[in-house]
Amino acid sequence: MRDQLDFDIIVIGGGIVGLASAYKIGLRHSNIRIAVLEKEGQVASHQTGRNSGVIHSGLYYKPESYKARTCAEGRKELIAFAQEHNIAYKICGKIIVATERSELDNLERVFEKGLENQIEGIQKIGPDEIKKIEPFCQGISAIHVPYAGIIDFVEVAEKIRSLLETGRRDRKVYTSCEVKGLNRYKDGVEVVADGGRIRARYIINCAGLQSDRIAKMARVWCGVRIVPFRGDYYELNQGAAEKVKGLIYPVPDPDLPFLGVHLTRTIQGKVECGPNAVLAFKREGYGKKDFSFKDSWDALTYPGTWLMFMRHWRYGFEEYKKSFSKNYFLKQLQKFIPSLRAEDLRPGTSGVRAQALGPNGELVDDFRIQRDENTIHVLNAPSPAATASLAIGEAVNKMATKHFSL
Ligand SMILES: Cc1cc2nc3c(=O)[nH]c(=O)nc-3n(C[C@H](O)[C@H](O)[C@H](O)COP(=O)(O)OP(=O)(O)OC[C@H]3O[C@@H](n4cnc5c(N)ncnc54)[C@H](O)[C@@H]3O)c2cc1C
Repeated sequence: MRDQLDFDIIVIGGGIVGLASAYKIGLRHSNIRIAVLEKEGQVASHQTGRNSGVIHSGLYYKPESYKARTCAEGRKELIAFAQEHNIAYKICGKIIVATERSELDNLERVFEKGLENQIEGIQKIGPDEIKKIEPFCQGISAIHVPYAGIIDFVEVAEKIRSLLETGRRDRKVYTSCEVKGLNRYKDGVEVVADGGRIRARYIINCAGLQSDRIAKMARVWCGVRIVPFRGDYYELNQGAAEKVKGLIYPVPDPDLPFLGVHLTRTIQGKVECGPNAVLAFKREGYGKKDFSFKDSWDALTYPGTWLMFMRHWRYGFEEYKKSFSKNYFLKQLQKFIPSLRAEDLRPGTSGVRAQALGPNGELVDDFRIQRDENTIHVLNAPSPAATASLAIGEAVNKMATKHFSL
């Protein structure tokens, strides 16, 4: 097969993780031919293009975990990258606000994790300092995270794509090119995609919401299933948007990988509120009524889904209430900004998280990257993977450098 190769490496998925992986491998190995195959007409169409646009500082994550390490490194790299390539970003800071006494223990735990993760400048603050940072926000205690920020991850992804392709005929991002099958041989892989068959020595799977299915095509047992969690946003009207200066976050539930409904000023100057987290019946379905028989079948026939429902039914019920009742959603926001009114909110965008779920109903907390001979699979890269993308790309590069003969 070696003499018929089209590329050395094929990356499946043109989201920010796939592009960053291709870019980092390309930087370290100048002779390697790389293709990125993306099924949509443009890159960054799914999670990368439908998120909160927050540059996370990394305080929530288990110290020494993949998430903690790559978020800290990735954030620094991302900011340096944005500066070098004139991509707009702002370090506006964020506050994580407790509005009830029952949240104080969890707030303290987040703060301790932040200290363990050595997050610069974090401070516990009281009601008066909250008002100084966010004059319309109320709370009994908060953590101020001065180095959190905002950026447009689509712009970052597009820049990475252009750096990968510019001046190189052997590095190409193919859009509208869906991978439909994989044939593995001892010395290479043949990809069956829209437009024909492409051959390479190695495959890197960064297919986000479809990553477990690509692993299955490669006959790799990954031990998890991707379960889609949709999150809906509302947008604040212009007058009300003035009430949010930066980023206002709730105290997260320590048992769940979701950060809760937050108020986010975007780099375009809008203020978004969201996202909630409900099980979606379509992996790439952004409407409340979107349904796919295949995706629902895959989720509902997986024992892990039912075990997760049993474990987190109370949380799930709350999240569905936020999805179907604007008033209930508003009540959650009013805990922070009591002066918000229903007429201040208009429906915004939505996104779907690719969350890996284990067979016992456990939501896989850390990023997961797995290698199997001549293939690498990024199987769990939810938030903060956009912030961490350049560091995840570097981790993929290191794995490829160690195990593939590049
Ligand atoms: C609602 C929401 C809010 C978030 N907020 C933040 C945030 O504020 N900050 C942050 O750091 N992170 C955030 N995240 C997480 C972040 O967006 C993701 O972790 C990151 O974008 C993952 O990138 P990815 O490349 O792995 O996935 P994706 O961007 O989903 O890319 C995967 C790509 O693979 C392609 N693909 C799939 N199957 C195939 C196939 N068969 N053939 C070819 N191509 C295929 C898809 O079309 C897609 O473009 C958020 C996520 C969501 C959903």
